[in-house]
Amino acid sequence: MRQFSLFVTTILTFSINCWATLFPSDSHGDPALGQIPLASHPAPAIALVPPQAWTALNTSVGGRLLGGIPVGLPCFDNFNGNDNARNDTACDIVEKNRLSSAFLADQMSGYTQGNIPSYYIDVSSVSDVQQAFEFATKWKVPIVVKNSGHDYKGRSAGVNSLALWVHHYTPEKTFDKAFVPDGCSKPVGDVITFGTGEGFDDVYHFADQNDAMIVGGSASSVAPAGGWIGGGGHSALAPAYGLGVDNVQQLRVVLPNGTYVTANRCKNQDLFFALRGGGGGTFGVNMEMSYLTHPRVTVQWAEVVFGNLSTAEQRQLLTVLVQNAADWFDEGWGGYCYPAGATRPNFKVQLINPRLTSDQAKASLARLLEFAAPLTKNITLKTYSNFWDLYTENIKPSQEDVLGGFGLAQTSRLIPRINFEDTPERLVDALMEAVATPSPAGLNLMLLLVTPSQSITDSDSAASPAWRHSLWHAINAANWDPANFSVANTLETFKATRKSFQTLKLLTPTGGAYINEGDTFLNPEAAVKDFWGLESYKRLTTIKKEVDPNNLLLVHGGIGALGGSNPLFSCYPDLST
Ligand SMILES: Cc1cc2nc3c(=O)[nH]c(=O)nc-3n(C[C@H](O)[C@H](O)[C@H](O)COP(=O)(O)OP(=O)(O)OC[C@H]3O[C@@H](n4cnc5c(N)ncnc54)[C@H](O)[C@@H]3O)c2cc1C
Repeated sequence: MRQFSLFVTTILTFSINCWATLFPSDSHGDPALGQIPLASHPAPAIALVPPQAWTALNTSVGGRLLGGIPVGLPCFDNFNGNDNARNDTACDIVEKNRLSSAFLADQMSGYTQGNIPSYYIDVSSVSDVQQAFEFATKWKVPIVVKNSGHDYKGRSAGVNSLALWVHHYTPEKTFDKAFVPDGCSKPVGDVITFGTGEGFDDVYHFADQNDAMIVGGSASSVAPAGGWIGGGGHSALAPAYGLGVDNVQQLRVVLPNGTYVTANRCKNQDLFFALRGGGGGTFGVNMEMSYLTHPRVTVQWAEVVFGNLSTAEQRQLLTVLVQNAADWFDEGWGGYCYPAGATRPNFKVQLINPRLTSDQAKASLARLLEFAAPLTKNITLKTYSNFWDLYTENIKPSQEDVLGGFGLAQTSRLIPRINFEDTPERLVDALMEAVATPSPAGLNLMLLLVTPSQSITDSDSAASPAWRHSLWHAINAANWDPANFSVANTLETFKATRKSFQTLKLLTPTGGAYINEGDTFLNPEAAVKDFWGLESYKRLTTIKKEVDPNNLLLVHGGIGALGGSNPLFSCYPDLST
């Protein structure tokens, strides 16, 4: 669960750099890392596409090819060097909604041009995506995929690209009892199948209407079959039922060669591996996901909010959380802890458990409740008959209030169980250091109890192996309004954010990081180690070469794009050292 959000691109602030270095010379990836040379991806290809080719593409996608015009255009007198007629009324609306997540989630583009693609297709069919790949192959134009636009790393945008906006691809959902994936012989359980444009809200609700529940993320508009599953997909229910990648049973995908294929544990297994943790927007375009449901059960909810703790009390509370983490994890507790930080006065603990009765839950949390009793009255323990009610009452409202359009720097660490058991005090020290690290935008720590049940052993996904032996996913994050924050402060904030986890990283050598919520500018070696592990990375690069030999689908920091420079990433500063 996140207290803030970024719906456009984390690198909006760098639009000036972007225009200044629009077409830097290509370079090659590091062969030692198995990287793919990027020179096969020349820069201003999009500028060479003749108008009649755009017209033909537009016709082939039913007139749904649109210009990637910045939503803030009415506020500017000049656009790309040409005069632009300002429209004060329209500008007022945009200005008022500039940081509104609801407004931005339904826009293809951001406030300024920056990293925004030149054109996009509002995808409504598999054929639209196939047409786009045919066009991109012919004209060597990079393709980016955008869904909810929630990505923190700018990976659903790309300068001088053609974007596939899949947000509106929502064919009718189905619920299949005893679902048998294509090519398999045995049923895998009850499964929901839905289109990639669906947000969690609709899928949670649909599961509930079928007396079921699913493992899912906190924000109602994150797309389960988009970047969430591509990165791994964590959930407060993961300690009981596993990550998203453990629960997905089948994906239907358009590959860059235009074929529409099915990937599951019986068919196209390598592709299925890559699509689950290898990173979104890299191997193909997911159109449809078939996803395991779990029987609807009673769920326990615990929320404790501490106001204005002293530094000593904050340390004591962190100690309670660290000391109890292993037991709580084994009992099925997941959730979100938000220590007080630079811009957050309260320390909030939110826990969910689908395994325990209310008496068992109270007994299990006794140490936390004892600690809280003299410090706060803000303690809630409640039993819900189903997850949907718990979600809509407690989690969804806070997610819908989040602001969009912010700049964001964050760093992530998956903290192994061994650190909780062997070095709990040093772990608390490292977390306190993270909270206290100064940064121009302030930093806020989040401790997410969202790692997967360790009884899952057959997942074979590309998500970091560190998920399998970790108890917490810790994030430290800073956010700012790009309109009021200098480039120098932005760069400094990214550096401070990374530095804040330096001690934690040294303390957790067997840990890793979550690709979707990790450092945007990790150097290639660290990215390989933290996001995938070397073995998975090598397998992913082989799969990438097979499915996308022309590198039509590249994302910053993704497979096939690590370490090399590329015009598509010219809006990103170099902060990898
Ligand atoms: C408010 C908020 C709450 C969050 N909570 C959680 C959480 O609880 N658990 C968690 O694990 N993560 C969480 N995240 C992180 C989230 O997983 C990532 O931001 C993710 O990238 C969002 O995916 P998207 O498709 O919705 O967004 P987009 O920005 O549209 O896409 C993200 C990436 O996926 C690619 N992509 C999207 N759709 C497709 C597709 N159909 N085929 C191929 N590639 C595609 C894009 O190209 C891009 O690279 C949260 C993020 C926010 C902003």
